[in-house]
Amino acid sequence: MVSPSNKLHFFPEQGKNLATSLLLGLVVALCISALVLAITHLQRMKRLETLADNFSQYMYSYAVDLQDSSYKLLPLAQQPCERVIPELTSSAAFKLHVRAALLVKNSTAECSSATGKMSYPLAKLVPDINISKRRDLAILAETPLMPGKPALAFWLADPHHAGDGIITTINLNIPPYLLFSAQKEGVSGIALAVRQEAIGIYTGQVTPVAQLGKPRLERSLPDFPIKLLIFAPRWQPQLIQFSLLVGLAAGIVSALLCFYYLTVRMSSGREILAGIKRHQFSVVYQPVMDTQHQDIKGVEALMRWHHPAAGPIPPDVFIQYAEAQGLIVPLTRHLFSLIVKDLPVLQQCLPAGSKLGINLAPSHLKAASFQSDITQFVNQLPGNYFRLLLEMTERAMLEGDDVLESFNWLHEQGFDIAVDDFGTGHSALIYLQRFPFDYLKIDKGFISAIGQETVTSPVLDAVLNLAQRLKMETVAEGVETADQAAWLARRGVTYMQGYYLGRPMSAQQLNEWYCKLPTNSGG
Ligand code: C2E
Ligand code: CA
Ligand code: CA
Repeated sequence: MVSPSNKLHFFPEQGKNLATSLLLGLVVALCISALVLAITHLQRMKRLETLADNFSQYMYSYAVDLQDSSYKLLPLAQQPCERVIPELTSSAAFKLHVRAALLVKNSTAECSSATGKMSYPLAKLVPDINISKRRDLAILAETPLMPGKPALAFWLADPHHAGDGIITTINLNIPPYLLFSAQKEGVSGIALAVRQEAIGIYTGQVTPVAQLGKPRLERSLPDFPIKLLIFAPRWQPQLIQFSLLVGLAAGIVSALLCFYYLTVRMSSGREILAGIKRHQFSVVYQPVMDTQHQDIKGVEALMRWHHPAAGPIPPDVFIQYAEAQGLIVPLTRHLFSLIVKDLPVLQQCLPAGSKLGINLAPSHLKAASFQSDITQFVNQLPGNYFRLLLEMTERAMLEGDDVLESFNWLHEQGFDIAVDDFGTGHSALIYLQRFPFDYLKIDKGFISAIGQETVTSPVLDAVLNLAQRLKMETVAEGVETADQAAWLARRGVTYMQGYYLGRPMSAQQLNEWYCKLPTNSGG
């Protein structure tokens, strides 16, 4: 017998469900990954924009501050260097970012907060500054006092004297919080560009703008010719990893849910209902013979399921499965309809008064539709031709009073009842007295032990004595040898059933087989 745990492999749907679930999991994983990546990417772009705004605001206030201090120095432009040096120096010293302040007269640097009196053409000192403008900016790769350290030079012209004005050079000090948030967003470079040159904030180097490539973001400072360039890779590896991880988790969860839904919820009996609809079930009939004369006395209807993918599924397996799925009633109704279709053929060979054995599951006996199911079936049988024998296992007796009611009703209708597989269940004698069975079917396990010196034989003896005492007729199941048949005849068993006498056959096969029997070959 196939155990329920082995049942699953009979249903190829499980493999299909697994494949479907895996596919769904994969699709969900990809979709969620893409979605999370898109959302996190958008959020990151927004943060980068904010970062660029903060940066340019900072740079702007920096430039304005510088401009203000230059304005304050402007009145000094027309005074001799000796007089203004202390003020130039204190202005450079007290302004955080100012490297040096220079006084320019006639396009020549005349006085510096750092070096005092001097005379150096401005065009050589800061070639990129356009002193004809009221204000201008330029990038310096270095200054004499800080070689190798780039600076910004700010020019403020004296509006009343052409060629005179103030130059202020400033360091680029970026506050750590800005650098930190830039690093967090995966910014690979920040540059301040003035016209064609740019200072790299991370590298501290001056590079032509044309060599920097395309920045991810760009901001122009109002009023000053400064551009802020932010470089960052489009996709941040951490975000890709995070998105894949979230997608993977979602994929696993949805695959599991899908598998649960398909197997536990949707497949509940789906195969059985589909099998009924697609005509995958059929009935075979096994002859039951009279032990003394070996005449046919009836047949037992046994259901068969040929699954297109799994092949033949043993009845023990699908009956148990149908019971578990609450589908035994539709399945038994289907059995009835299949038998009804076979009736014309069965009537050709089976003599009138033959017993038609049908197996009933205990749960069907308790179903509300039980009586109407049986009545409908019987109404389709040719009047008084077949005698209905309902077979149920000892398990049915454990179901209690509902079943007893069904028993009584069956007897009232004139049907016979057999206890099936007797001796294999938990039969208590008290049940046998309480439930009025007409036949006792001895399980094939006992029959196969006949002739062997096992402990089974004394049990079989006891069962036969018990049947006699309770005035029940006996049917021996699974008779496979002549010796077994002879032994059973000697022991007064009423009927026999088994491969030795006839295998379960289709109605057509049964007809052909019956005609070939020696006793019927003439007729
Ligand atoms: P069961 O009612 O005891 O049926 C007899 C089983 O013994 C059948 O197995 C039959 O093919 C098998 N058999 C008959 N002669 C021999 C023999 O000489 N040797 C051996 N080894 N086996 C023999 P099957 O058809 O596989 O059915 C198994 C069980 O499935 C049945 O046991 C019955 O409990 C259940 N079943 C089958 N059809 C139906 C049905 O339509 N409704 C219900 N409720 N149960 C069914
Ligand atoms: Ca049976
Ligand atoms: Ca049986």
